Amino acid sequence: MVHYKTESDIQIIKESAQVLGKAHAEVAKAIKPGVKTKKLDSIAEEFIRDNNGVPSFLNYNGSFPASLCISVNDTVVHGFPGEYELKEKDIVSIDCGVLYKGFHSDSAYTYPLEGVSQDALRLLERTYESLYLGIAQAKVGNRIGDIGHAVQTYVEQFGYGVVRELVGHGVGRSLHEDPEVPNYGKRGKGPKIMAGMVFAIEPMINMGTKKVVQEKDGWTIRTQDRKPSAHFEHMVAIFPDRTEILTTHEYIEESYSFKWRNKSR
Ligand code: MG
Ligand code: MG
Repeated sequence: MVHYKTESDIQIIKESAQVLGKAHAEVAKAIKPGVKTKKLDSIAEEFIRDNNGVPSFLNYNGSFPASLCISVNDTVVHGFPGEYELKEKDIVSIDCGVLYKGFHSDSAYTYPLEGVSQDALRLLERTYESLYLGIAQAKVGNRIGDIGHAVQTYVEQFGYGVVRELVGHGVGRSLHEDPEVPNYGKRGKGPKIMAGMVFAIEPMINMGTKKVVQEKDGWTIRTQDRKPSAHFEHMVAIFPDRTEILTTHEYIEESYSFKWRNKSR
């Protein structure tokens, strides 16, 4: 069941997303070779709590152990922060959620570290681009399948794999609500996109095979062929006449020292 949001709900979600965007930026400042991923997690948790939020992911389903999902290289999503030290040439996806005044926000960004390969950099650029192509389809009059179709057709031309097992989702008083928003699909198929919907679009794109495996910890998802994977996520709100991106990567891009992208958005 889709929980449609009022304008005032959406206003609160935007506030939640501001805390989230700034938490991401604090993490971005610390991303460099030698930092332990558990340090990034504690930075995020402290910032969120200092700003009257609660980390959405911590204890999710009674078992997720951290405030961030940190997914390095061939890890697609849901990696645990821990003792791993980032190193040159890594790519690292940071996914974070904030509960604020009763509403969740959710966004993700994948960072290249210095020395990253050209192939990995292109994977990031194209995954980033696919997110915005998906967002452009998220409007009244379209269907959910139009979003996934746009993402899938763009990235598959490069031989990349679109992860099937994990999808975008409605967000609101719960972190994961209907509708599901796959990153693959057929034009004109799936639920109608309606005013009042708020959902996350989050392409998870693999350099090689689309196939993924789950590690024994019950959470961590990695690529079957051990090639890298990228993940970017925004939340959008659907209005009768427009679509608004509620989350922001702006603070991240101001804060991260390695400027890897031409900023057209
Ligand atoms: Mg999400
Ligand atoms: Mg997320």
